[in-house]
Formats: sequence, structure tokens, C-alpha cells
Amino acid sequence: MTHAIEIADLHKSFGDNQVLQGIDLTVEPGQVVCVIGPSGSGKSTLLRCVNLLETPTRGKVFVEGVEVTDPDVDLDAVRRRIGMVFQQFNLFPHMTALQNVMIAQQRVLKRSKKEAEIVARENLEKVGVGDKCDTHPGQLSGGQQQRVAIARALAMNPDLMLFDEPTSALDPELVGDVLAVMRKLAEEGMTMLVVTHEMGFAREVADRVVFMDGGVVVEDGPASQVIGDPAQERTKTFLRRVL
Ligand code: ADP
Ligand code: MG
Repeated sequence: MTHAIEIADLHKSFGDNQVLQGIDLTVEPGQVVCVIGPSGSGKSTLLRCVNLLETPTRGKVFVEGVEVTDPDVDLDAVRRRIGMVFQQFNLFPHMTALQNVMIAQQRVLKRSKKEAEIVARENLEKVGVGDKCDTHPGQLSGGQQQRVAIARALAMNPDLMLFDEPTSALDPELVGDVLAVMRKLAEEGMTMLVVTHEMGFAREVADRVVFMDGGVVVEDGPASQVIGDPAQERTKTFLRRVL
């Protein structure tokens, strides 16, 4: 079986700062893998290397069997199969929710306006903001904006989704709505690589949890084991601080 994501000996430096120091990680189709770890441990950089928003210094990344670190790869084709959701929602403020979800469908996938609108409405409905189609981001709560951002990613029919701390910018009372959408996606079989501090979500939804520290994977295993009964001292120390 082809791995959804395979990361082999991934290194990434910014100048003298060796941020990723040999990461090995695989995600199988339909799996949810949560990445946890202290701030600055390289979690965002790891995600950004998967769709080549950052160019690795060394090592290989494969997405559905295609080596994205191969200089000859059709990067646009690879990126089209990967949805990404960031901590900051990055919606266009001058466009309505509907327009935000339509634009990349029209520009990148060359869908007609009519088709893009149908798909946009379906996905906004799916994430629970179907009644906000004509609203601008400034009039939406953070949780609603993040759900529009998830709808925007889903409208591109990705094979896998990367989430980088999707609830970290939200007021606590809005976190649950976004996690509920992510949980639904997971139950539907979406392949997901999720950087998060939400240990409850990781424990309940993730097939595997990966603990990163200092640019390496310290521990990788079933959620119940890594969070519930960690083997490594560094994992224990981290969990004591966040739980
Ligand atoms: P995390 O997401 O785990 O908090 P990051 O991947 O964002 O960690 O950052 C890890 C380290 O890489 C930090 O020291 C950060 O300053 C550095 N870093 C990240 N992106 C860049 C960049 N574009 N240029 C220079 N340094 C960066
Ligand atoms: Mg980060």
C-alpha cells in the first residue's frame, strides 16, 4: 500500500539553526496523526516541508508515493491534493465567505462559477456555517472564520489535510466547534496530519500521536500510549506542563 505521507530523514536548517534534525514519519491513508511538542520544536516547519512551503535541506518527502522533494516534481499537482489549514485563517477580508471558498476552485481547478458556488455552499453547510455565505470574515467569529477556511480547503477535494494549530488563535468557547468539524472529517476517513495542543482531541481522534522536541521525533505511537503512558522522560515532562 502506498503511504499517504512518507517522510524520511528530513532535515531543515535556517542558517545555523538546525530546526529539523532527521525526521522519519509515515501517515497511512485514512489515518489521523497528531503532532505535539513544545513551541519552537519544528512542528510548523515539518508540515510546511510536506507541501514544500519550505524546501528541506536534506531527506525526502513522498505524498501518495510521489517524491515532492524531487526537483522535477509537478508541485502544483501535488499541492492540489493537499489541503492546509493554518492557525491564522488567512481569508480574504473583502470577499464573502462564499467567495472565499469559490476563488481557488475557479482559479486553480478552473471550475465554472456555477459549479464552484455549488461546491462552496455544500462545504460551508458541512462545516456548519451554511447560513454565513454572504457574510464577510470581519463579521464572523474566529471559530466561524476557521470553519470557512476548512470549507475552502475541502472544496478543492484534497486527498489529505494538514492542520497547523487550527484552534490556537480561538477564544476557548469557540474551539469545540472547530474540533467537532475535524472529528467529523476524521470519521469520514480523511487523512489528516494535525499539529495541536488539544490533548483531548489527540487522545480521542488520533490513530497516532507523535511527540517532537528539538527537531526530532522523540516518541511515536498510539494516542493512548504516547499521551496516557509515555515511554520517554521528555514526553512526560511536556505532558505534565500541558495536561
Ligand atoms: P513550532 O511550530 O514547533 O513552534 P517552528 O517550526 O515554527 O516551530 O519553528 C522552529 C524553529 O525554526 C524556530 O526556532 C523558528 O524561529 C525557526 N524558523 C521557522 N521558520 C523560519 C523561517 N522562515 N526563517 C528562519 N527561521 C525559521
Ligand atoms: Mg508552529
